[in-house]
Amino acid sequence: MSKLKIAELFYSIQGEGRYMGVPSVFLRTFGCNFKCAGFGMPRGELSKEADEIAEVAHMYNKYEELPLVSTGCDSYASWHPSFKDLSPMLTSDAIAERICEILPFKEWRTEHLVITGGEPLLGWQRAYPDLLNHPKMTGLREITFETNGTQTLTPEFSQYLKDWQWSHKDNYTRELTFSVSAKLPCSGEKWEDAIKPEIVRSYQVIGANVYLKFVIATEQDFADAQRAIEEYRAAGFTGHVYLMPVGGVESVYALNNRAVADIAMKNGLRYSDRLQVPLFKNEWGT
Ligand code: SF4
Repeated sequence: MSKLKIAELFYSIQGEGRYMGVPSVFLRTFGCNFKCAGFGMPRGELSKEADEIAEVAHMYNKYEELPLVSTGCDSYASWHPSFKDLSPMLTSDAIAERICEILPFKEWRTEHLVITGGEPLLGWQRAYPDLLNHPKMTGLREITFETNGTQTLTPEFSQYLKDWQWSHKDNYTRELTFSVSAKLPCSGEKWEDAIKPEIVRSYQVIGANVYLKFVIATEQDFADAQRAIEEYRAAGFTGHVYLMPVGGVESVYALNNRAVADIAMKNGLRYSDRLQVPLFKNEWGT
């Protein structure tokens, strides 16, 4: 039976993108290929917040005890090696059982599953079929992978996802979405590592709904987003584009949400809020 290293598993409301406002189970896998230490920092500088917390990692026994950060990756504990022991390795059986416990009716009805990270498409692709084939997961109709858009799907997983979208048994279609949060230079990651148009295009080829989501703090970020959009379009990407304000904490988020909404309107792009910030203060488990 397959196992997944799970950083968090919780039930909440999706705060971002296409499914904003939809009750969702969040399955956060451990591990990421990036650090995104540039978020919230002056251009060219990197946040040390996650590393400083890591130095005293022994003080924390549970996710809920970890401090929230205002710069860098707000999900740092889902990939930083110092917190790996907070993320248990669970069998697909245990995950499916736990999901049913946290669903309001103890079974899937209209809720949506978000597989997030970290970067959920790293090494875990081989483990998802076991979980999604579990008898307790058959009522699930909608999945979103929240990815940074840099990971190629294996041929086996591509085929599995193509098949998953159509259930011959019950004669209903399922919806598969890739929410691609492409990392611009403000993240601190290099363009050539972060912007992978052909890979994102390949998610569309399997029939999934794919959209791009850019975190914007400044006009320079928007200029970078425009350059990236051109590259994605040139590769054949046809999905929607969302702009989203920077800010894992309310004070930062409130600084630029209106400005980002204005830029989105002016350029005919979609605006995505981060409902988890005003609703839940972006606490762990929300
Ligand atoms: S890709 Fe996402 S999870 Fe990974 S470091 Fe960047 S913001 Fe954090």
